[in-house]
Amino acid sequence: MTAENSNPADILQNLRAVKTRIDEAAHAAGRDPETVALVAISKTHGVDRIADAITAGHRLFGENRVQESEAKWPALLEGAPDVRLHLVGPLQSNKVKRAVQLYHGIQTLDRLKLARALAREFDAQGRQVECFIQINIGEEPQKAGIRPREADGFIAECRDTMDLPIVGLMCIPPADEEAGLYFGLLAEIAARSGLDRISMGMSGDFETAVRFGATHVRVGTAIFGQRPKLRSAPE
Ligand SMILES: *Cc1c(COP(=O)(O)O)cnc(C)c1O
Repeated sequence: MTAENSNPADILQNLRAVKTRIDEAAHAAGRDPETVALVAISKTHGVDRIADAITAGHRLFGENRVQESEAKWPALLEGAPDVRLHLVGPLQSNKVKRAVQLYHGIQTLDRLKLARALAREFDAQGRQVECFIQINIGEEPQKAGIRPREADGFIAECRDTMDLPIVGLMCIPPADEEAGLYFGLLAEIAARSGLDRISMGMSGDFETAVRFGATHVRVGTAIFGQRPKLRSAPE
């Protein structure tokens, strides 16, 4: 992390620039920009930089690891109770309890076992957390998510049979491919099941995602700058 990009003014400017680009992409697509939520992905960044984004007025954030979130967020949320935090990384069943305690949204519901664990935990805590089902839109073996052809059944099982608060779908398309094809496919799957929230698009392709109907774009680098290299393996 360089000295320049830990300047609060830069985070404010970056947020403004990203929002302007979202507005322009929405207008170009004949959409109301208000229908696109910017999820600021703050993984690996320290609480000071996140606090700068909160001070700049931003209210919706995403993290990809439970443990890291627990280290950073309770204090931040205490100071800004209207801030909302989503999990956008993989959730292990043994961390479901902690995840339900901390997050306001879970974007990575990707298997039946996790659905069952969430249902149990929502009951136990008397608290529901909005869930997005993660679709492995490019059917990549190394990626998490439900395969497109299994999506309709999985959505129905979670929402209708298990009564989980499923609000939408999320995907991470294959790198180095035309993302629009995958975004279009995700939007179709969502429409078929009557789900109106679609989380797709990152720093490199969020305008394309807006064009294809994203209601949540997940942007990290374009707001906070390059992430410091991590030492540890993903959890
Ligand atoms: C890190 C991450 C992002 C943000 O990626 P950038 O390219 O930094 O914008 C979005 N979604 C998920 C799931 C991520 O893990």
